Amino acid sequence: MSKMILIPGKIVTANAEERIYHNHAVEIEDGIITNFIVKDSVDRSVYSGEIVDLPRLTLIPGFVQTHVHLCQTLFRGMADDLELLDWLQQRIFPLENSHNEESLKISADLGLFELQRCGTTTILDMGTINHQEIIFEELIKSGQRAFAGKCMIDRNDLFPNFKETAADSLNSSTVLADNYHNAADGRIKYGFAPRFVLSCSEKLLIDTKDLMHDYEGALFHTHSSENKSEVETVRRLTGKENIEYFNSIGVLEDHTVLAHCIHVNEQETETLKRTGTRVAHCPSSNLKLGSGIANIPNYLQKGLSVSLAADGAPCNNNLNIFTEMRLAALMQKPIHGAKAMDAKTVFRLATIEGAKALHLENEIGSIEIGKKADLVLLDLERADQSLNENDISIYANIVYSANSGNVHSVMVEGKWVVRNNISTLFEEKELVSRGRTELKKVIERAGI
Ligand SMILES: [Zn+2]
Repeated sequence: MSKMILIPGKIVTANAEERIYHNHAVEIEDGIITNFIVKDSVDRSVYSGEIVDLPRLTLIPGFVQTHVHLCQTLFRGMADDLELLDWLQQRIFPLENSHNEESLKISADLGLFELQRCGTTTILDMGTINHQEIIFEELIKSGQRAFAGKCMIDRNDLFPNFKETAADSLNSSTVLADNYHNAADGRIKYGFAPRFVLSCSEKLLIDTKDLMHDYEGALFHTHSSENKSEVETVRRLTGKENIEYFNSIGVLEDHTVLAHCIHVNEQETETLKRTGTRVAHCPSSNLKLGSGIANIPNYLQKGLSVSLAADGAPCNNNLNIFTEMRLAALMQKPIHGAKAMDAKTVFRLATIEGAKALHLENEIGSIEIGKKADLVLLDLERADQSLNENDISIYANIVYSANSGNVHSVMVEGKWVVRNNISTLFEEKELVSRGRTELKKVIERAGI
C-alpha cells in the first residue's frame, strides 16, 4: 500500500460547504483521500508513509475540462483569425484528415503536457476519425483521467474527404468502446463523439445515442449552437433550432455534453434544463472564433449543468484553465454586471461542476474523504497575488490572478504527473522537436 500525508498551507476543498482548511493535512492511501489530520497531530515518528511538507502551497482539487481536442494541439497557430465554418473547411478538417499515427501521438502528448502543467487532471476529449486508438494509448500512458472517443462524421459538405459511412463510424466506435471504456482501472472512459449536426446524418446521431446506452457511464459528446451560420444551416436543413432538433431525435439527456450553446433561445434553455443536458462553456474559443457569448449567468440561474473547457489549441490558443476561468468571469460582467460570475462560482465550475457534468462527482472534483487524490498544489505566496488572508481572496487569487506559473505540482489518483512545475512524464524539448518535425509532414500531406 502506498501512503502519503500532504501538509500544505491551505486546503480549498470545493466541497458542498465550500470549506477551506488552514491547519490541516491530507492523508492519501493508494490514490484515495482517507483523512484530514490537524497538522500538529501528524506523528512523524510512527508514520510509515511519505510526509510531504508544503507550507507555502495551497491544495485544490484537480481541474476538469469538459471539451478539448487533443488531436488539434499540433495545429496551434495554423488557423488563426477565422470564423468557425471557414476555420473547419480551410484548415482544421484538412489537417485532421492528414494525421498519421506519429503526428496524432505527438499532438496528444503536447496537449496532455500542457493540460497537466496547468493543473487539469480530467478531460472530456473529442478525438478524430482515424487512428483514435493512438489517443487512448497516450491517455493511458500519461496518467490523465479522461473521457475520449473517436470523432464521428458521415456527411461533410465543408470537406467531403473527411468522413466515413455511418456503419463504419458506428462499428469502429464500438470496437474502441469495447477496448477502452473503463481502461486503466476505470481512469479512462468512452465519450461517443458525433462532431455536430452539420457533419452527422440523423441516423448516425440516433444510433450513436442507442450505442452509448450499451456502455454504463459513457457519454454522448458533441458541439451545438456555436456559430450563427451554423445554426442558420441547421434551421434550413431540419426546420428547427439546433437544440430543439437534438431534442426531437431524442439525444438530449443527462449523459449528453454539448459544447458551446451560444445561440440558444429561452425555449431551448428550458429543454436543456428539463433533459439534464450538460453545457461545456469555452470562453476563449467563443471569443477567438467570433462566435458569441453564451448566456451562462442565465443557465446557472436556471440550474443547468455548466462546466468549463479550452476547446482545441487552434481556436484558443492555449489549453490553460486559468485563462478560461478568468475569461468566463470577465466576459459576462459588462453584460450582467460586476457581481455576475464571481470568483468562487467560477472556481466551482472548473472543479466540482466539471466532475458533476461527467457524473464523476463521487470520485473527483473536490477534496473529500473517499474521493480520488486528483490534486493540484498552487504557489500563491507570490508578489503577483493578493496578500489578503480571507477566504474570498483565495478564490480571487485562483480565478483572477493565478496562471500556469503558479502551478507547483499535480497528481492524478495519488501519482505525481507534475512536480515543481516539471512534468514527470514528458520532456518538453523532446516534445517540441518531435512536434515540429511531424507538423511539417502533416502540412505537406494536407497540401495547405
Ligand atoms: Zn470543439
